[in-house]
Amino acid sequence: MSLSLIGKSIAASATLKLNETAAILKAKGEPIIHLGGGEPKSKAPLDAILSAVALINSGEVRYTPADGLPALKQAIIRYTEDFYNRRVTPQHVIASGGAKQAIMVALQAIVNPQEEVIFPAPYWVSYPEMVKLCGGVPVRVYPEDGSFYPSLRDIEQVVTSYTKAVIINSPNNPTGAMYSEQFVAEIVEFCEKRGLWLIMDDIYHRLIFDGRKPISCYKFAKDLSENSKLIVINGASKQYAMTGFRIGWAVANKKLIEVMTNIQGHQTSGPSAVTQLAAVGALNGLQSSVESLRLTLENNRNVMIERLKAFEGVRVTKPDGTFYCFADFSHYSKNSTKLADFLLDKVRVATVPGIEFGMEGYLRLSTCGTVKDITEGIERIKWALDPNSPNELYIGQRKLVRDWL
Ligand code: PMP
Repeated sequence: MSLSLIGKSIAASATLKLNETAAILKAKGEPIIHLGGGEPKSKAPLDAILSAVALINSGEVRYTPADGLPALKQAIIRYTEDFYNRRVTPQHVIASGGAKQAIMVALQAIVNPQEEVIFPAPYWVSYPEMVKLCGGVPVRVYPEDGSFYPSLRDIEQVVTSYTKAVIINSPNNPTGAMYSEQFVAEIVEFCEKRGLWLIMDDIYHRLIFDGRKPISCYKFAKDLSENSKLIVINGASKQYAMTGFRIGWAVANKKLIEVMTNIQGHQTSGPSAVTQLAAVGALNGLQSSVESLRLTLENNRNVMIERLKAFEGVRVTKPDGTFYCFADFSHYSKNSTKLADFLLDKVRVATVPGIEFGMEGYLRLSTCGTVKDITEGIERIKWALDPNSPNELYIGQRKLVRDWL
């Protein structure tokens, strides 16, 4: 078949594929515990629902401007003021079909074929593929000290004359690591000095623990003129538990937003009017659901860490935020894909192989579910992997007998 080179080079989204497999097994009545998910289980805020339903009830659901409805842009402007202490205008804002589209359109607006885009590893699964979709070259940087926290030196070392942009995702999917203020300050200053675009993927910035506060990259920018190459990405998906609504946004200089709008205008047009209004409801409405989600996730993180620490052979770094925990299972298997398949097959626990995020030997475990999901999920994994476990395990009525250790 004569498919395009770019088309053929793009891998399926591992996380979306895993969700499908887990859903199919669950529909068949299998007692799946989903520690692979990337979405909160709480409900969308009531203000979001009411606002969307009001539009649906009107029966007049129309096209929206390619860069989003003015009401949503206003809400994003206020959000930017509240969380970034930065005043922007509607021309600095584009609303997209999820943060994913906002990042994709930003890359399409800045990356030429052969140009390089740097991001620290482990990284969100979509970055390499998004860069490749633009004909660009993804450049993964592994922190030299073996931690989940990159240093400016790590990034500096891979910058070449082809480097066009750097993507920073903090707190990070899959590690939950929130980079220090000092690192953010250094990377902002470095990119400014070198004329590089800096994409700050802040999608998890309010879901942080232990008294941390969201960091605004603008605080460290010297150039906040229309020449600024800072692109801030955010969205409703994670903080408001609105993944299925598909609303994200970018804040950047006017020229870039204009170009992104042109691209998005031909690609998808503006996002759905219904879900944009839902996002307006979420952004302008009561914020208590965000804090309640954050608290739940912090508690779940604590439970997950406690359980994993009792698990000999697993090494884990305490996440600073998000709803992921990236644990080193290399003691049990160097092949994370095989290990994840094994766990799904034998004990019906879904996890995401670390290799999908650029780190072999790790599994990404999600804390989105209930405390019961976490404790039972880890218990099942432990039973499957620990040779000292008893020979049998009951999952409900079902008796599992270990015949592999
Ligand atoms: N960035 C990161 C780091 C993510 O983890 C995700 C979602 N998994 C996104 C962006 C995309 O978010 P959205 O659902 O709003 O497209």
